[in-house]
Amino acid sequence: MELYVHIPFCKRKCRYCSFVSFTEKAAEHEAYINLLLKEAELRAEEADEKITTIYLGGGTPSLLSSRLLEKLIRGLNSIFNLDSVSEFTSEANPGTVTEDWLEKAAELGVNRISFGMQASQDSLLCILGRIHRQDEVFHSMELARQAGFKNINLDLIFGIPTQTEDDWTQTLLTALSLHPEHISAYGLIPEEGTPLFNDLRMNRLQLPDADMERNMYSKAVSLLHSYGLQRYEISNFARPGCECMHNIGYWTQVPYIGIGISAASMTGFRSLPDGISYSRSTNPCSWADYRSMILGKKLPVPEVISPKEARFESVMLGFRMADGINEDTFMRMHKVSLEDCYGEKLHKYCENGLIIQEGHHWRMSERGFDIQNTILSDLMDDSFN
Ligand code: SF4
Repeated sequence: MELYVHIPFCKRKCRYCSFVSFTEKAAEHEAYINLLLKEAELRAEEADEKITTIYLGGGTPSLLSSRLLEKLIRGLNSIFNLDSVSEFTSEANPGTVTEDWLEKAAELGVNRISFGMQASQDSLLCILGRIHRQDEVFHSMELARQAGFKNINLDLIFGIPTQTEDDWTQTLLTALSLHPEHISAYGLIPEEGTPLFNDLRMNRLQLPDADMERNMYSKAVSLLHSYGLQRYEISNFARPGCECMHNIGYWTQVPYIGIGISAASMTGFRSLPDGISYSRSTNPCSWADYRSMILGKKLPVPEVISPKEARFESVMLGFRMADGINEDTFMRMHKVSLEDCYGEKLHKYCENGLIIQEGHHWRMSERGFDIQNTILSDLMDDSFN
């Protein structure tokens, strides 16, 4: 089982960001930590398995003071049994992270840091509305290594307006020069309602075209591979043994408890005659609603995921992974074979070279990854008709 903790504070809102985070609540950090710990108490009985990974995401967890970070982690430790945690990640932003914070995080058991580097050109960081500049990434990496972190991720973005293929190659090379154990490379998705989306709609900025974006993605796959970072999920690359266990858990339907504003939980797994079923719930996204829910000692009403939906989720998430879906694991989990559920279409995609079957694994080919959404919606039709 996994634990996710949402820290919804940011110094300034990035221009593309649609995550739930607030810039004006610095005075309320401690009140929020108190609410998180209250929620953890309310959810304690959902932790019916050992917790193996923790992820502090956001927002910007590195905006919390060291004292509040300590209060949070010690509090979680007193509520949940965290003895089996082997991976404990915190996101951190260059431009907010300090030596003191990193040392405290390491002392409290955080053993993996994920930095939002995004790009190596200050002009692109400006377009994204990031608060940091490239030299702060170098400095933050150095501080993290000095604090003893041996597992560091850098998040990168491609497909940024005005970004050229050379810019992207330079970003990849700069990131690689810092020797991270893990890199996440995401294509920019302009979310409606963000300032960047409005600039695009008003033609003040343009996105790179689809071909250029595809080239950028291919460049990431080949360059990172040549430096020893293997793609293990469509957007994630790692040195062997440094894959993010928390995210792998998510893609393989390991139960998780999420606490904090907007956090989702997936718990209550049950084995039924026709497969598995579980519950999913999402906390409110507004501060006021979250606060009143927790103070009222309530939790959101969960949605029950049926065996049929659970099967499709396995396919949707499994095909994101480079290894794809193991048919034995699928059978064990869902009590029906992958072939019986999706065989006809899977074989058709195999013939077209979009899906590859190797031994007991079914995975997307390079061309399949390119049109993954189309393939998944086609498979979804089979699931729900
Ligand atoms: S740092 Fe992350 S969460 Fe905060 S505004 Fe930027 S993208 Fe959003």
